[in-house]
Amino acid sequence: MTEFRAIRIDKGDHGHHADYVVMRARDLMAGDVDIDVAFSAINYKDGLAVTGKGAVVRRFPMIPGVDLAGRVTRSAHPDFAPGDIVVGAGCGLGEAHYGGFAQKARLSGDWLVKLPPLLTMAQAMAVGTAGLTAMFCVMALERHGARPEDGLAAVTGAAGGVGSFAVALLAKAGWRVAAVTGRAAEADYLKRLGASEIIGREEFAAPGKPLQKQHFAVGVDTVGGLALANLLAQTRFDGAIAACGNAGGMELPANLAPFILRGVALLGVESVRPRIALRRAAWRRIAQTLDPVAIDAMSEIIPFDAALERARSVVDGKIRGRIVIDMGLNLPPGDAE
Ligand code: NDP
Repeated sequence: MTEFRAIRIDKGDHGHHADYVVMRARDLMAGDVDIDVAFSAINYKDGLAVTGKGAVVRRFPMIPGVDLAGRVTRSAHPDFAPGDIVVGAGCGLGEAHYGGFAQKARLSGDWLVKLPPLLTMAQAMAVGTAGLTAMFCVMALERHGARPEDGLAAVTGAAGGVGSFAVALLAKAGWRVAAVTGRAAEADYLKRLGASEIIGREEFAAPGKPLQKQHFAVGVDTVGGLALANLLAQTRFDGAIAACGNAGGMELPANLAPFILRGVALLGVESVRPRIALRRAAWRRIAQTLDPVAIDAMSEIIPFDAALERARSVVDGKIRGRIVIDMGLNLPPGDAE
């Protein structure tokens, strides 16, 4: 296949523009591994990239898509050979390097892992950056020393991609989980993932006192802004919040009181840098912990033709769980190893 389809973002005299294009292999950026991309997924960041609502893209033109899974067709990297089924997530894909919204990718093998056993490519994309980030949050809380017997765990933006995985992973690790959501209609979905209670987003939306009633031992925050400030104010002595997202704002209108009067810890989590050992550990744990049926329940598979419109709508916060893109290559779905 010398020609392939992609979504490309251009920025020029006519402003920011994203559309489907046909490209050639020689148009790809440099890298030591070539991949036929079978599946990708839509992340919040991809929504920001295609709409131009956030400063995500660091060079133009750009192929968005921070996640991809596919089959290696050429490799000069010692860890991979043609035929390997691989997964890439984060590492600058869709931001600084052409990403997964294309039927072909050329990238550094240092950013790839082999498809984790037990998962299909579509399931690995249902996990993708969202699931990895949720797993990194849980691991950060564990490194802090938090244990399920400490009390209740909160997850904000619970019905979103990162939030859904955070609910499921915390519940599987033995935590009682309070899911904070703006969508009461998703209560049953969140309970099926393992939430033991549902809290309305509005309870976290208004400015509150610096120290409030202590509800939560830990939390995973995907929203930022006032939601994070209120979460910190409701965290118990020596508790910890893993903050990874800004779906509700980049500001942190918080007070020092939770930190210096209750010893609350704010743990920052980012999933972009390669740190391959941490990634492999996170993928292993996700594959061992989460039932593939549960992963399927969190995701919807759409054709590549629908991807641009759905990516545009992700920034409205209306998407439940994960959207996986079938790139239309019809590679065998199986697990690789
Ligand atoms: P999604 O769009 O899937 O989910 C975001 C969720 O946040 C929504 O479903 C909604 O949940 C809630 N939400 C949306 N808008 C608002 C608002 N204005 N106020 C309060 N809540 C809101 O996104 P992802 O799960 O993919 O990503 C979540 C966040 O995490 C994003 O900010 C993303 O950029 C960030 N992220 C960060 C990473 C990192 O490396 N640090 C990696 C991956 C993601 P509900 O309907 O349940 O209320």
